[in-house]
Amino acid sequence: LLFAYEPAKRLARVRISLETGIVGVRMMFQLADRPLTLAEKPGAKPLQAGPGEIRFDNVSFAYPESPPVFEGFNLTLKAGKMTALVGPSGSGKSTILNLIMRMYDPQTGKVEFDGQDISFATLDSLRSKIAYVSQDTFLFAGTVMHNIRLGREDATDAEVIAAARAANAHEFISAMAKGYETEVGENGSLLSGGQRQRISIARAMLRDAEILLLDEATSALDAESEALFRDALQQLTVGRTTIVIAHRLSTVHQADTIVVLEKGKVQESGPHKTLLRQGGLYQKLYEYQLMP
Ligand code: ADP
Ligand code: MG
Repeated sequence: LLFAYEPAKRLARVRISLETGIVGVRMMFQLADRPLTLAEKPGAKPLQAGPGEIRFDNVSFAYPESPPVFEGFNLTLKAGKMTALVGPSGSGKSTILNLIMRMYDPQTGKVEFDGQDISFATLDSLRSKIAYVSQDTFLFAGTVMHNIRLGREDATDAEVIAAARAANAHEFISAMAKGYETEVGENGSLLSGGQRQRISIARAMLRDAEILLLDEATSALDAESEALFRDALQQLTVGRTTIVIAHRLSTVHQADTIVVLEKGKVQESGPHKTLLRQGGLYQKLYEYQLMP
C-alpha cells in the first residue's frame, strides 16, 4: 500500500488517507499454521528449549530460478524482545519470516534457534515454537469457539475464554446472543475487521508459542479497534521473541530494536530514537511516514 521513494504528490495523498482513516483494504491479522513445505531430514532432532534467540548465520538465499535475496546475511534477533523489520518493498522482510518458518532452506549458512540449526530439527518441534499472525484471511466458517481453539486443539473452554479476554475479544463475543457459539460465517464475514483481528490474536494467545511472527497489514482500523488491537498485541508479545514486519508507526515505536533492510542488507539497526538521530534511511522512511 505504501511504497518508498514515491513522488511527492502521491505521498501527500497517502498522508491524507492515513489521517482521515479511510480504509481501502480490510485488515486481518491471522494465525496461520502454515504448512512447512520442506521435508524433515533423516535423523532430525527435536529442538531443545531455550531462551528463544534466533540467529541468521552467514545466510545466502535465492528463490528458485531467481537472483539472490541474501548473500552472507547475518542477523541476531534477541530472545524475548520485539524486533521490527522495516524497509522498502522487496528488501527481504517476508523472506526472513519464510526462512524462520522453514518454508525454504538457505543455500549456504544457517538459521539457528538457540544455537540449533533449524534445518536439522523435526517439523513438529519447529511448528510448536512458532505462531504466525498475518493479514491473510484465516477464519473458517464455524463458531467463535472453534476458530479460537485452532490455536491449540486440546484447549479447554476456560482456556479459550481466558485467551479471548487477553485479546480484548471476550466482551464483544459475550455481547452476541449466542456468545462463543456464534457462527462467524465464511472467512469470518459476519464479524467486523477489528473483531476478526482480535479473534486471531486470541488464537495466537492460546497457542502460547515462544516465537511470534507478525506480518502487519498496512491499512488502518477505526481508532477504537486500533487501540484495542494494539493493547492485545502488547500483551501477546510480552516475553516472546517477536519479529514484526511493521507498517505502522505505533508498532515500530513499540519495538525494542528496529532493523532497516534494503536490498537484502541490514542498513541500520537500533531503537527508534537512535535511528532517527542517525539521519539515515529510517529517518527518511519515518519522516515521510513510509513503512512499506
Ligand atoms: P519484502 O517483504 O521486503 O517486500 P520479499 O522478502 O518479499 O521482500 O522479497 C525479496 C525479494 O525476493 C524480492 O526481489 C522479491 O521479488 C523476491 N521474491 C519474493 N518471493 C519470491 C518467490 N516466491 N519467488 C521468487 N522471488 C521471490
Ligand atoms: Mg513482504
